[in-house]
Amino acid sequence: ADSVVVAGAGQAGADTAAALRAKGFTGRITLIGDEPGGPCDRPPLSKGYLTGAVAPEETVLRPPSFYAAQDIELMAGHRVASVDRDRHTVCLASGLRLPYGTLVLATGCRPRTLPVPGASLSGVLTLRGTADAEDLRLRLSGSPKRVVVVGAGFIGLEVAATARGLGHEVTVVEAQPRALARALTPVMAERVVTGHRDAGVRVLLGREVTALYGDGTGRVRVMELDGGERIAADLVVVGIGVVPNTDLALGAGLGVGDGIVVDSHLRTDDPDIYAIGDCARFPSPYAGRHIRLESVQNATDQARCVAAAICGEPAPYTAVPWFWSEQYGLRLQMAGLTAAPDETVTVGDVAGGRFSVLCFRGGLLIGAESLNRPADHGITRRLLAAGTGPSPEAAREPGFDLKTFAR
Ligand code: FAD
Repeated sequence: ADSVVVAGAGQAGADTAAALRAKGFTGRITLIGDEPGGPCDRPPLSKGYLTGAVAPEETVLRPPSFYAAQDIELMAGHRVASVDRDRHTVCLASGLRLPYGTLVLATGCRPRTLPVPGASLSGVLTLRGTADAEDLRLRLSGSPKRVVVVGAGFIGLEVAATARGLGHEVTVVEAQPRALARALTPVMAERVVTGHRDAGVRVLLGREVTALYGDGTGRVRVMELDGGERIAADLVVVGIGVVPNTDLALGAGLGVGDGIVVDSHLRTDDPDIYAIGDCARFPSPYAGRHIRLESVQNATDQARCVAAAICGEPAPYTAVPWFWSEQYGLRLQMAGLTAAPDETVTVGDVAGGRFSVLCFRGGLLIGAESLNRPADHGITRRLLAAGTGPSPEAAREPGFDLKTFAR
């Protein structure tokens, strides 16, 4: 291809442009994103950005000079409105048309909103971009408030931990019977919830929000739960998952399920169009089926995979999934896909908060969740990439240490 257009200037889109140049691609690269500030680093937005530990200028993925120096045409604040596959052009909301040789869809996700009355009151927030984070940071910087977080997923719990650290009264409401049900084993999820409860956060599991009520000025004041219980809320942060941005792909007649459907090479039904990052539904050798992953690792590694393919080095996407979270200074790291093991072995010091949960399926290591055990995380990633690992029996032996196994 002599020109690449990337629709969506987030982690995956920006990394695609950078990886293309790093691989020596000399054609035209246009990176188009509808956020005004250009590609941003989202992980700090629920963590250090809210406390001031991470400054606004540290949340840009790369300085503006990078794009100029790499001859990447960054069009920030522009939305791609449609794709004309026959003419190989994209049409922007402004009416501008741009030709492409290869098109990469990297449109990410948007937060799911709370489907209850009162959800649009002032003080009810979701968190995705820097503008959302700045709004939340300002609201958390004042006098102590009653903050209610809806959803005990990573973003909700990180915001809860940060808000609690800033001295606010924090309640977490989760509809599922346990926290982090989609992402973590029960052992690790319980340890995370214990950390919140020890810090003074009220965690309500298996409870649903039924309505929000405001005061006379339209600001949220009260949350109603199933069963009629009412709790005071000056600020509501909704972290109940995301919806992939698939409109562009749908409009172009490409296959869409929960995400834009791609093959093992991250190609859509159209050989000149790829989809990557949070918006892509791809066949994962680790899951044995099509999945969508929402992580920096997945966005970055898929960007590299597609850049290689465009440069004439196609290979299936097989990178080991990994993820991290930080709450109350605890470093949680996950390698592999640990949501559905048939066997787990816990190694290390659970009470002391330094342990790993090794996850197995059919006797094979499929992943590990590590709390303050970075070495275990690194070793697990290498073992998974090599398709090897200890058996559950070996892991259960007294004195078992992943380090010795890795040697
Ligand atoms: P995005 O970064 O969302 O980028 C997509 C971009 O495309 C957006 O800017 C969007 O506005 C734009 N776009 C959409 N449609 C169009 C269109 N039609 N035209 C133009 N532009 C369009 N991951 C981790 O691994 N670890 C963490 O600790 C972690 N913490 C997180 C904390 C927060 C608060 C959030 C929100 C996410 C966090 N993540 C974390 C997830 C991680 O940030 C995402 O997985 C990653 O950003 C995905 O990259 P992406 O490029 O696919 O999507």
